[in-house]
Amino acid sequence: MSASEVWNIKSAASHYRLPYWANGFFGINALGHVTARVNASQLDLYTLSEHLRRQGISLPVLVRFPQILQQTLNNLYAAFERARCCCEYAGDYVAAYPVKVNQQASVMRQFYYQTRWPVAFEVGSKAELMACLGVLQQRDRVIICHGYKDQAYIRLAFTGILLGHAVVIVLESPAELRCVLECHARFGVRPALGMRVRLSSVAKGNWQNTGGEHSKFGLTANQALQLVTDLQDNGVTAWMDMLHFHMGSQIPSLQQLRAGFREGARTFAELHALGLELTKLNVGGGLAIDYQGSRSNSYFSMNYSIDDYAQAIVSSINSVCREQGISAPTIFTESGRAMTAHHAVLITNVVNAQTQPEYTPEYAPGNTVPRSNKRQVAKQRLKTLADLARRIESHTQAARQSIELKQLVREINDGFADGEISLADKARAEATLRTLHTQLLKFKGHHQYRNEPEAKFVAKYICNFSLFQSTPDVWGLRQIFPVLPLHRLDEFPCRKARLHDLTCDSDGRIDSYIEAGCVKPYLSLHELRRGQDYLLGFFLVGAYQEILGDLHNLFGQPYAVNVELQTDGNYRLSEVQPGDTIEAILSYLHLDTAEMRQTWSRRLARVSAPTNIKQFALQQLEASLRANSYLT
Ligand code: PLP
Repeated sequence: MSASEVWNIKSAASHYRLPYWANGFFGINALGHVTARVNASQLDLYTLSEHLRRQGISLPVLVRFPQILQQTLNNLYAAFERARCCCEYAGDYVAAYPVKVNQQASVMRQFYYQTRWPVAFEVGSKAELMACLGVLQQRDRVIICHGYKDQAYIRLAFTGILLGHAVVIVLESPAELRCVLECHARFGVRPALGMRVRLSSVAKGNWQNTGGEHSKFGLTANQALQLVTDLQDNGVTAWMDMLHFHMGSQIPSLQQLRAGFREGARTFAELHALGLELTKLNVGGGLAIDYQGSRSNSYFSMNYSIDDYAQAIVSSINSVCREQGISAPTIFTESGRAMTAHHAVLITNVVNAQTQPEYTPEYAPGNTVPRSNKRQVAKQRLKTLADLARRIESHTQAARQSIELKQLVREINDGFADGEISLADKARAEATLRTLHTQLLKFKGHHQYRNEPEAKFVAKYICNFSLFQSTPDVWGLRQIFPVLPLHRLDEFPCRKARLHDLTCDSDGRIDSYIEAGCVKPYLSLHELRRGQDYLLGFFLVGAYQEILGDLHNLFGQPYAVNVELQTDGNYRLSEVQPGDTIEAILSYLHLDTAEMRQTWSRRLARVSAPTNIKQFALQQLEASLRANSYLT
């Protein structure tokens, strides 16, 4: 039986590795559509996209699920609860949200307005601190201030204290203490301080530079000791409350994390011994996401669970504190990626598929290539193989003919370069080879098929989005995100395709996909159907992507919407953001659209054309200014 005959939604789930990266938040229903799942509710994402479009929310659209944010937070706290119970850990746990991961109002508000868990906020700049001071209205929220600080930043932190927040100013350099002392004299309030140290443990990953001795941030052991002396000299040792270190983001190896936690805990104990009565130990970020669904050491995966992570932190700190007789500190993590990645999905459509035609047209009359012997022979062999390709009955047969055909194509290409073979013959050879590859797939099934199709036989699927705007890490870091069709998953995906975005740039394409447990240079998709949209979902894009996105080719932010699942199978939309209009994008560039409008009117007035046509042209310009930048 061929793979296409045995294919079903279970094959689709395992092929696209859904159970391994989705954390239970996404699945496939009996219709072959992707669903979002929270608690006991499910939502068909294909149907949702159709509804959104009927309501004027055009593709691409970034769909955010606030309930996934909440559930992820619950899972994080539950893991630490289990670890604390298991180790009989006496200290508390607080998840701090590093807002740089996603500063969108709806994300910040979700973490702020949920009341189930005490969530702290971590900021790295004055602007992020301002955002927090604006969003957080309650008094009991901890705000952790990281990053290099000038006097204005530290003044703002003191203003936060006056507003009633528990602000912790984490000192990155000894000079910052001087500013703090000045502000204390001015504001008359006592600050809480933290110190960031750099560990020598290095955790490998795409962001490993942020950890280790060569790290950009953090005090060396020497500087840390100097800071302790400075605190003592100024009589403010009691202000120092938090030790912080950060080993990097997306750390795939638990062993490396564990080494860092142990080193951090030892530093904590040493600082205690020097007289700092620290009560908070902040282990920073690093908790990874299994984008690849492989549970491995790959930079886009992780070889541990959240439980393993929590256990490693709690047990390392616990054992050092017990050895040294120190009270267990409140543990802070800054796992922003893990808190947000799953909650956002980019949905878009394929606008065009560039594939090679199965059969080339007959020779055009007037073909000028001389009919040499070589050409006659090649044509005859090509015809024989093309006939066979349509009647392949086994995989071995298909594989054998593929090898022969490749040889023939090579000969034909040489003949073409020598002027003996026409363009039409060359095209026919390519088309036949492609037919053979399709046959091979049918016999063997994509996941067992080890020979990679040649790059030129991978179709180009042009998608209605900008990779630079919506998944910039693909461009910058070759990041892998799970991508799959939102529908037709009960149907065998017989087409190998590479996704390209709308930008006029060859970089605007995705080269790595997760397929059947491997990273492949193509994605198995379906043939496009005339009159039916083909929708794709880009998953796990909730962390970092939105704010890192840029305006390459002036594609702006797409539509975004919050979707809340309800128990009766319905859903509620909120915070619909129409995305950037072209006018807004031009304004970012300081282009004066009011002046443009006047100029266009003046110029069109001088054109000799009927008035209704001139009006139509003006309407087009106006409508384009108000439209978003994607294909409609
Ligand atoms: N905390 C600090 C100080 C960071 O620099 C970062 C990001 O690199 C984070 C937290 C977030 O880490 P993650 O991406 O692992 O959530």
